[in-house]
Amino acid sequence: MTDCIFCKIAAGEIPSEFVYEDDQVVGFRDLNPQAPTHVLLIPRRHIATLNELRPEDEALVGHLYTAAAEVARREGLAEAGYRTVINCNADGGQTVFHLHLHLLGGRRMSWPPG
Ligand code: AMP
Repeated sequence: MTDCIFCKIAAGEIPSEFVYEDDQVVGFRDLNPQAPTHVLLIPRRHIATLNELRPEDEALVGHLYTAAAEVARREGLAEAGYRTVINCNADGGQTVFHLHLHLLGGRRMSWPPG
């Protein structure tokens, strides 16, 4: 999508240092980190929200989580733990409408979330 900031990041049109990259998914650091490690994992293909997922996207979503676990290992978070979050629409707190998985770690998370 031409006016989507995360599509532009995935396409390399906005310079960004990828902490993870493969043919389906890229990962980069959040501009406004909410934890010592805060990485966003996104599909290269534009999907606006979780609501737009189709059965044929199931492997892609599974791959997003596999990529997140790989980044967590690389960042040294795996043993202590970390949190993954996908926000959906207004009540979920979504502000960028290109599906993204937040990987947060490096501090103890609280529950319930705000
Ligand atoms: P959400 O509120 O779940 O939609 O998360 C969107 C996230 O994208 C926020 O944590 C923002 O800080 C982050 N963000 C927005 N623009 C950029 C950008 N250009 N590069 C990296 N992170 C961004």
